[in-house]
Amino acid sequence: MNYIPTIGLEIHAELKTKSKMFCSCKNDPLEKLPNVNICPICMGHPGTLPVPNAEAIRMVLKTGLALNCTVAEYSKFDRKNYFYPDLPKGYQISQYDLPLCENGFLRIGERDIRIQRIHLEEDTARSQHSAQADYSLVDFNRAGVPLMELVTEPDLESGEEAAAFGQELQMILRYLLVSDADMEKGQMRVEANVSLRPEGTEELGTKVEVKNLNSFRSVQNAIAFEIRRQTELLEAGKEIAQETRGWNEAKKETFSQREKESAHDYRYFPEPDIPPLTFTKDFIEQLRLEVPELPQKKRERIQQEYELKDKEVALLVKDRALGEYFEQVVSELGSRLPQKELAKKISLTKNYIVSDLQGLLNGMSVEDPNFKITPENFAELISMLADGTISSPGAKSLLKKMFETGGDPSQLLESEQLAQISDEGAIEKIAKDIISKNPKAVEDFKSGKQNALQFLIGQMMAATKGTVSPEGARKILITLLAP
Ligand code: ADP
Ligand code: ZN
Ligand code: MG
Repeated sequence: MNYIPTIGLEIHAELKTKSKMFCSCKNDPLEKLPNVNICPICMGHPGTLPVPNAEAIRMVLKTGLALNCTVAEYSKFDRKNYFYPDLPKGYQISQYDLPLCENGFLRIGERDIRIQRIHLEEDTARSQHSAQADYSLVDFNRAGVPLMELVTEPDLESGEEAAAFGQELQMILRYLLVSDADMEKGQMRVEANVSLRPEGTEELGTKVEVKNLNSFRSVQNAIAFEIRRQTELLEAGKEIAQETRGWNEAKKETFSQREKESAHDYRYFPEPDIPPLTFTKDFIEQLRLEVPELPQKKRERIQQEYELKDKEVALLVKDRALGEYFEQVVSELGSRLPQKELAKKISLTKNYIVSDLQGLLNGMSVEDPNFKITPENFAELISMLADGTISSPGAKSLLKKMFETGGDPSQLLESEQLAQISDEGAIEKIAKDIISKNPKAVEDFKSGKQNALQFLIGQMMAATKGTVSPEGARKILITLLAP
């Protein structure tokens, strides 16, 4: 018997609003000191009143528009009642039957994965259980942070596809500037529901929910593990227990956390302290205009426009800011250049951004205030390279200088003496000097060892800080060493 896997995801993302969801406390996920961004409202004191954060609502609606959802014209908040130390009110303000967004989809590869709903709620506080202590600590900085929850239909078929969905969604949230969606930091949390059904049948099997997945890799691995585990159980004629399981990253396996007592009863009821929300069509159309070009569109467009390889497209789309920087540099190169010249410069720009600049950035974003190379200066460097003012090794050291100082390339060129040496007499003088200093290599070359020539070329490049091109060095050395 063959079994078909079915997966549905529940994904939470912290919104990056300035303030919290129902109070004016700072929403700062990077705050290290516990319990500083708190007030009576997010501490759940009796008698306080919540006031919804309009920015958070706009962010969720925008996400819904980006994901092809129907956006509610009428919506409301509800109380989800349960008790836990990280939820001092005894209920979470969430949304039950009238979420902000419904019935969307996101294309992953060739398939549309349907989105059931996206709603808005408040995050809970963070509990800290230390192994050494006989007490737990609660940090309320996170309590009341706006949290978006997205629920997919059970449309995914593998761990790989689920991870791809998560990654695409992460990119979209970042493009929309609604969440940094960093899984390691808990800004995006994925729960996977996994079930199997015999091939040829329609009815879905009993699902298992897997929690604490804090990377896309663990999403993929945990689902693959669950599929194997459930297949073995079914093949042995056993039943799947409906339960919640955790993921043990070290052992690469899921483990039972709790059996699901018949569906939780949260006694949802409309939040009496917040009036229902209504949105006009105009308001929603206005928001639609704020949705930027999304990753899939951008992938198709830049591929065509700049003749990029798949890997280059992937990098420039994944790193939104780097992709935008690349296009700013291209626009600085000047649109009135002859087609062939522009194509050459675009190709150089792409190479220098994808490899050299990436290497210098070493994980830093081009939006970081410490990154100082303006698109104008980058474009100037590319032009100097394209017209032969500098050699390629010269451009690389110039780029490094620009990265370190934020300086202007033509000024740095003079102060660093990196201009390509084009005076043949000067090149010849340097070559003669290298030849006289390296008699062993010269002898090796004359006895037919090609490596020796490579070595001499290297010596010339080093002596001139790369301002002689390798081809130029090769030519002059061969001429001088000819028998
Ligand atoms: P619950 O009431 O247990 O929360 P929901 O119907 O709200 O279940 O679905 C929660 C998530 O589980 C959704 O992402 C949904 O797509 C997924 N899901 C529902 N049934 C199954 C199933 N049989 N197998 C896999 N995923 C499922
Ligand atoms: Zn507060
Ligand atoms: Mg549910």
